[in-house]
Amino acid sequence: MSQARIGLIGLGVMGANLSLNIADNGFPVAVYNRTSSVTDEFVASSGDLADKLSPAHTLEALVASLTTPRAVIIMVAAGAVDAVIDELKPHLDKGDMIIDAGNANFHDTRRREAALKNDGLNFIGMGVSGGEEGARFGPSIMAGGDIASFEVIRDILEAISAKHNGQPCADHFGPDGAGHFVKTVHNGIEYADMQMIAEVYGLLRDGDKRPTAEIGKLFEAWDQGPLNSYLIEISGKVLQAVDEKTGNPLVDMIVDKAGQKGTGRWTAIEALSLGQSPSTIEAAVAGRSWSSEKETREAGEAIFADIQPQAGAETLSDADLEKALLAAKIIAYDQGIKLLAAASEEYKWDLDLASCAEVWRAGCIIRSALLDDMASAVREGLPHTQLIFAPRFAQIIREGSSALRRVVASAALRGLPTPAFSNALAYFDTMRMGRGTTDLIQGQRDFFGAHSFERTDGGKGHHGPWASDVAHSAALTD
Ligand code: NAP
Repeated sequence: MSQARIGLIGLGVMGANLSLNIADNGFPVAVYNRTSSVTDEFVASSGDLADKLSPAHTLEALVASLTTPRAVIIMVAAGAVDAVIDELKPHLDKGDMIIDAGNANFHDTRRREAALKNDGLNFIGMGVSGGEEGARFGPSIMAGGDIASFEVIRDILEAISAKHNGQPCADHFGPDGAGHFVKTVHNGIEYADMQMIAEVYGLLRDGDKRPTAEIGKLFEAWDQGPLNSYLIEISGKVLQAVDEKTGNPLVDMIVDKAGQKGTGRWTAIEALSLGQSPSTIEAAVAGRSWSSEKETREAGEAIFADIQPQAGAETLSDADLEKALLAAKIIAYDQGIKLLAAASEEYKWDLDLASCAEVWRAGCIIRSALLDDMASAVREGLPHTQLIFAPRFAQIIREGSSALRRVVASAALRGLPTPAFSNALAYFDTMRMGRGTTDLIQGQRDFFGAHSFERTDGGKGHHGPWASDVAHSAALTD
């Protein structure tokens, strides 16, 4: 085989499928896996694509089989990236590039990019979404790092990516960690979306005692409307699946402890350090963390078994739930986009926010019918960087917020937790209230800490008339 344009290290689920995708698009690809037998088995089972795959059993051989400047994708377990870079580096020449296509904390990406630059090597931090199927047939690709290097492999990335109306869902978002940050926020939104769908499931299952398969059918129906999305589609399928062993709905046989690899948590952590609070994403992270406390929750259920639903809970119609879910989901995207804007400013990335929404329209886990409209709204310019203020979304939120309000109120009265919905509503109500209640908090801060406040009629650095009260409080505590 002629020399390959690109190499790939790590033939796990994602790496194997990405290699097949690259080969399937006509690009010869050199592949390497730490465990050599995996490489051989992979190539042997790749059928017609084998002639596009060049197996290497050492990193030296992998590098030797590539055209220059060399481009090597690393797709290994997150904790192994630095070790693989250290092993690979001595075989590369100045101007070559390493592409980390796994999920990485963007701070690590920034660190790796800076370190490799010192060695004359280029680094691309590249988020890939879409799971196994996406990797094989078209993922959404969010790259960051050296733009000149990206241009060298742009044709490959665009060819293997998902397409929305023929437009590739692959882009370069900015220097160093920009791509991995966009992927992290994508995952944060994914967390919020999944949590909200699960909250609807909880309201229908525990509030209305609806059979599981019926809820699945409802999601299937919603998938034909404005909620059309990959996550609604698969939720409908998961809820209608039957356990072969017991004949029960499969979901009843799944322990309600959610896993998380960290990207949702990273989103929340980074947001907080940027002075942001994407409360729907935070609620989703909290929901997963709380879910892991299964034994505690079971103990709590026994202790508080006497607490009954309160009177006054409205019966929720399916239409209300659908509208509430749509509104809450838009709010989650609003928070994600705002976070991207804040990070872009902090790290001088100059992120194209519309392009973020555009590459999410196909191939990735959060793909949905809404994203096309969102991308257009962002392209047109968001008032105050708020998606919910964009005219086409303001109208949906205006209508959906009353349904969201009924859902949150009903859930509270029935004692059913809806952290993401509740946080979506609180955020919306806060963002539509010109005068909030932080005037009191500023007063409190000035009272106990002389932090000063800004006056509504102008001027910063003012203090309240409580100096003698403060002295009195101090005397009481002495
Ligand atoms: P994974 O289980 O995270 O990684 C498996 C691969 O890593 C194997 O090829 C393994 O080689 C290699 N590896 C592990 N430790 C190594 C080390 N110390 N040195 C060299 N190679 C090492 O597989 P994955 O699910 O395909 O994920 C890869 C990356 O993609 C991760 O960052 C993941 O978070 C990200 N990602 C995954 C998904 C998904 O749906 N799975 C979606 C998006 C992104 P051996 O065969 O020798 O063990």
